[in-house]
Amino acid sequence: MPVFNIAVLPGDGIGPEIMRQALKVLRVIEKKTDLSFELKEGLIGGCAIDKFGVPFPQETQDLVLKANAVLLGAVGGPKWDNLDFDIRPEKALLGLRKLLEAFANLRPAKLYDALLGASSLKPEVVQGVDVMVVRELTSGIYFGEPRGIIVENGERVGINTLKYREHEIRRIAKVAFETARRRRKRVISVDKANVLEATVLWREVVTEVHKDYPDIELSHMYVDNAAMQIIRWPKQFDVILTTNIFGDILSDACAMLTGSLGMLPSASIGGKTGLYEPIHGSAPDIAGQDIANPIATINSVGMMFTYSFDRPDLEVAIDKAVQTVLNQGYRTKDIWEEGKTLVGTEKMGDLIAKALETCL
Ligand code: NAD
Repeated sequence: MPVFNIAVLPGDGIGPEIMRQALKVLRVIEKKTDLSFELKEGLIGGCAIDKFGVPFPQETQDLVLKANAVLLGAVGGPKWDNLDFDIRPEKALLGLRKLLEAFANLRPAKLYDALLGASSLKPEVVQGVDVMVVRELTSGIYFGEPRGIIVENGERVGINTLKYREHEIRRIAKVAFETARRRRKRVISVDKANVLEATVLWREVVTEVHKDYPDIELSHMYVDNAAMQIIRWPKQFDVILTTNIFGDILSDACAMLTGSLGMLPSASIGGKTGLYEPIHGSAPDIAGQDIANPIATINSVGMMFTYSFDRPDLEVAIDKAVQTVLNQGYRTKDIWEEGKTLVGTEKMGDLIAKALETCL
């Protein structure tokens, strides 16, 4: 009987509530298949600062390095916003991604038909949307040196550096082309090559890597145009390949195509261990109220089965369970519309777990 060791890091804000729902799904899979899971919980983010004084304690680092996969809720909140940058909760995210060498962040934005009315865009614009953002995750401006706030000629100067090495672009481009091969075979690489030299190199290297993928159609788009095109006609996109910061921003825009930030899962792969988390943050404004949408986290568990445990059938089953519950008319507050049944976080988790029993 295969046993998978999963590091569970609920984090802050809504993190613990949404993680509880993801674990309900794991328990159903354990009951209905021959898989079993050893879950080891660790502290990360603000809760780790409160206990250990640092956002990513050694204990948690050891835990994730020993795991077969890592499930993360979200980190951060106003309580820790005034801390020094180096010990802020968000610093733990960068540390975790770097430690796992998870350089490829896959963020699928797919609209469930049942949520057609939940998107702020017209139904004909979003119906059938199915985009995969492939975002570089361990380099770019979020990691580049020098960085910081210094004083120059008596005034403060903020500095960040956008830097990409050729091999970093090459490996993420490969992931994008391989991903497109399993989809509709189109990659749009998003950069700002008209003003940023680092992305001139990005465009050159992506074009070189493309020579090994003649079956995939490649085009390039500037990021400002891409932001507009995602809202104007999202169905033109299959795979969006882009840098760390552009992917961060564009995937939040893609989330709104699907109705809510609470719908978008993610997988960060390419390194030692896969990391799975919703794309949203810790939503402190709604924490502890049983109104957060757990679907992004539950679908992140689905991605874990595909990318870490080679069981894409289980991702399909989880997706089917989510669809079943949405088709039955149940909605959390963020995706609720007239005529639908409003449920809380816990109830949504229970409904999906129950639906999953019949999908396996
Ligand atoms: P956020 O994603 O937490 O929230 C943005 C908005 O979306 C809020 O109105 C929130 O209520 C709503 N929202 C988010 N997830 C939801 C869900 N599952 N269900 C329903 N509504 C949901 O972004 P923010 O408010 O800019 O940041 C809050 C904190 O989270 C900050 O400390 C930020 O640094 C941190 N953050 C963490 C991560 C992460 O852990 N990966 C990512 C982004 C932001």
